[in-house]
Amino acid sequence: MQRTVFLMNRNMRKRGAWSALCIVLVLSVVASCTPSRDFLLKRSAATRLDKQYVRVLLLNSGDRVTISSKKRIRISDVKTREVYYDGKGGNVHFYPERVKKPVVVESWESPLSVNGKPYRGLLELHNVVGRLHVINVVTMSEYLCGVVPSEISSSWNAEALKAQAVAARTFAWYHLINKKGSQVDFDATTSFQVYGGAAAETDATNRAVAATDGEIAVYRDNPILAYYHSTCGGHTIDNNYVWKGSGIPYLKGVRCDYCTASPHFSWEEHLSLYDLRNYLGKKYTGVGAITGVRFQRNRGRVVQVVITHKNGIIRLTGNEFRLLLPEKKIRSMCFTAAKTRDGLIVNGNGWGHGVGLCQWGANGMAARGLTYREILAHYYSGVRIVAMGNRALRHVNEKSIAARK
Ligand SMILES: [Zn+2]
Repeated sequence: MQRTVFLMNRNMRKRGAWSALCIVLVLSVVASCTPSRDFLLKRSAATRLDKQYVRVLLLNSGDRVTISSKKRIRISDVKTREVYYDGKGGNVHFYPERVKKPVVVESWESPLSVNGKPYRGLLELHNVVGRLHVINVVTMSEYLCGVVPSEISSSWNAEALKAQAVAARTFAWYHLINKKGSQVDFDATTSFQVYGGAAAETDATNRAVAATDGEIAVYRDNPILAYYHSTCGGHTIDNNYVWKGSGIPYLKGVRCDYCTASPHFSWEEHLSLYDLRNYLGKKYTGVGAITGVRFQRNRGRVVQVVITHKNGIIRLTGNEFRLLLPEKKIRSMCFTAAKTRDGLIVNGNGWGHGVGLCQWGANGMAARGLTYREILAHYYSGVRIVAMGNRALRHVNEKSIAARK
């Protein structure tokens, strides 16, 4: 059924004032019988498995956002819990300028959809400097169920899916514990981990999340920065060759003989100097005709690129160079280049930054009968896999409870 209601629609508010008052009274009684969200948060943190709530930024929109559910919808004030609407489901349109205070949208027995895409849990909408921030509040388990199939093929071997589930959970926990006061924990894109919500879920990946419930990878009893990528191309790379900062012991490059089945294991691309100048022009001003390109390598990886042009010199790290170009042009830092008449022929291996777990390699290891623990131990040197409730992690658990409060 299609209904169009919207928060702060004045006509609707007048019509619904009396019924809303009745609903508030009923809800007050119901609310007094149900545990508060704060209570649930603390209790979930105490169980230390995947029942903690996380807050994921789904949208940062300057336009209308439509939230819908086939079942009952309730819209209330985040702080005061004053109920603005409680009734039949349908489409609810939210306009940034009309959402004056943060609101929470809940539904029962049916997921809430945001612009047609379904999500578990509840939604919060905040007006942040005229833009609508849509935040999905879900348990860690629900979050991971939407992440794992978005980051890896659900048709892969079960042990590879479990390794991905532990890596994604660890990556999330590392950031939860180290984040500094923000109303969201993560965003839903490749800049953190891709989160596809309920629509992305599959039975196989949900099983992998459940089978590893609460398990994370730790180094010296701390959750690790569990980077992962598509295909290493034969060897993963030390983190400090990709990003600024010092080397992290568990992110040291390791040999990988398992990702040869990846379609990105080896690739070839032509890069014209004309196109390269245009790509550089998106980031730098005054880029002239390119007269030379030099690549500096370390252990087979391009770590520095020096480009000379008519008006000067541009220096980039290998990773910056990779990210400057379209996604599949230069897929990794592991490549060689030869001159052509108008540019370069580039031959490379792998896809992604090359740090940490190699996803295609994880699937290759699983195909050879290795377990998810063996896979994780291969790519993250010196780590242990433990459950969040492990006594050795008491300081982490205490910190995690503090972080959730
Ligand atoms: Zn690999």
